[in-house]
Amino acid sequence: MIQRPRGTRDILPPDTRLWNRVEAVAREVFSAWGAEEIRTPVFEHTELFVRSVGETTDIVHKEMYTFLDRKERSLTLRPEGTAGVARAWIENRMQDRSLPLRLYYIGPMFRYERMQRGRYRQFAQIGLEIIGAETPLADAELLAALHEFLVRLGFDDVEIHLNNLGDPDDRQRYQEAIRQVMEVHRAELCGDCQRRLDENPLRLLDCKVPRCQELSAGAPAMDAVASPASREHVAGVEALLARLGVPYRRNPRLVRGLDYYLRTAFEVVSPKLGAGTALGGGGRYDRLIADLGGPAVPGVGFAIGEDRLIDVLPEAFRLETLARPRLYLVPLGDAAQAWALELARDWVRGGVPVELEVTGRSARAAFKRADRDHFPVVVIVGDDELAQGTVTVKRLADGSQTRLTPDRVPGWWLEHVR
Ligand code: AMP
Repeated sequence: MIQRPRGTRDILPPDTRLWNRVEAVAREVFSAWGAEEIRTPVFEHTELFVRSVGETTDIVHKEMYTFLDRKERSLTLRPEGTAGVARAWIENRMQDRSLPLRLYYIGPMFRYERMQRGRYRQFAQIGLEIIGAETPLADAELLAALHEFLVRLGFDDVEIHLNNLGDPDDRQRYQEAIRQVMEVHRAELCGDCQRRLDENPLRLLDCKVPRCQELSAGAPAMDAVASPASREHVAGVEALLARLGVPYRRNPRLVRGLDYYLRTAFEVVSPKLGAGTALGGGGRYDRLIADLGGPAVPGVGFAIGEDRLIDVLPEAFRLETLARPRLYLVPLGDAAQAWALELARDWVRGGVPVELEVTGRSARAAFKRADRDHFPVVVIVGDDELAQGTVTVKRLADGSQTRLTPDRVPGWWLEHVR
């Protein structure tokens, strides 16, 4: 028996309905905010992620699916979406269009994660980027679109946690400041943090090991070290969020797992997910496109984890999406079958979801199946119906039964079921 690889999942019906509907809402909301979809490859040259996400991050250090192709080129299954968007931006000279551009993407990402609940090796992200604007207004618009998307799904308890990561010069000084404070505790830190201390001290703040968290609690906050311009920027974003009534909170320990963020960085937190697990996150990346060899174009973006989002989807949205009734159409006898197929096509055209009984079940077996699968309505066409040109429509909830001419069925369905 061949099983699926560890960390992957089969998404089965009817759950696929949830995925489709969540994606439909994302498309609807983001395009209403002026965004267009972008689709980039699922694999890229490894170098792209090393240079953008950052060599010393956990993602690049130990989570990438990297392989040599048949011509010995190093390729990597994308661990996140922004790097590919930035690469595509440069390669397709998108700065020649009128800016800013709002771009969204939906698709699978890959990370070699240690197995735990809510972490997969293939997972899906829904992301939005605003490229070509450096104002706090752009950050706030992005967060407003994100909040609107979550509200549309029925979330009423999500919160944005945000921090100021400063400008690149600040980052240098800040890394030094953390190193100085933490060096004395080196021996007490976990193995990962000892490496972080040498390579990228900022990452210490992101460690999930309780002892490391206690030790790094004494580290200074980035905002205190950051440039006045970056402080003003993030304060500007906060003022706009406050005005919109989007719930947010400052979290001075929030650093994110990618190196390209500066100034605004944020995560979306739901109380339904445990501490330390975010629904999604993002931030500003004004240097990313230039660092990859493109023009100096600023950007800001987020990615939501679709798997996690669906895990904590509000019950009303879930139930409404899963409860989509179908009409069960049962032909009895050979003569009725061709007619039933024709009726099914006409009703589907008329907007009625139909499930045609194609296995030749008897009336008794069909009603048993209807009960088990919760069909609200069974329509029978047998010799008698064929002769009279009417069909028998039976509602299972109360057992009531009526005869209708076929052209009246879509109207009846709309009135009685949907
Ligand atoms: P990140 O870019 O790492 O902050 O990821 C953004 C969001 O993607 C996270 O908040 C998660 O919702 C989701 N995500 C990241 N990694 C995984 C994973 N291994 N499995 C499932 N979801 C993930």
